[in-house]
Amino acid sequence: MTEFLLSAIWANVEEHPFHLTEDDHKQASCPKCTIDLNPVSPADFSDVIVDRCPTCEGFWLDHGELDRMRDVVKAIDSGTSAPSGDQKPAGWSDLRWRIYLLKRNRD
Ligand SMILES: [Zn+2]
Repeated sequence: MTEFLLSAIWANVEEHPFHLTEDDHKQASCPKCTIDLNPVSPADFSDVIVDRCPTCEGFWLDHGELDRMRDVVKAIDSGTSAPSGDQKPAGWSDLRWRIYLLKRNRD
């Protein structure tokens, strides 16, 4: 059973880099394009593996993967107090810092 990641959730991490990763737990195909999905991990969350279609760039998640991505988004969004200056605050992941800068540069 696959489920497309909700766009409202995805909007928070859509500009975050994903890396191809090794994953042999399944060989799934894109329900739209019928070509093989690539297993990818968001940077800073190498333990989270989701499947992305190289053609339509859709993310196809089973139930556990959706929960993991929700956790990732929560980690990005938690404690959004603005840091002072251009130094990454201690305890912030590179991912959270990058998301913060992306949002700040848009305002
Ligand atoms: Zn596709």
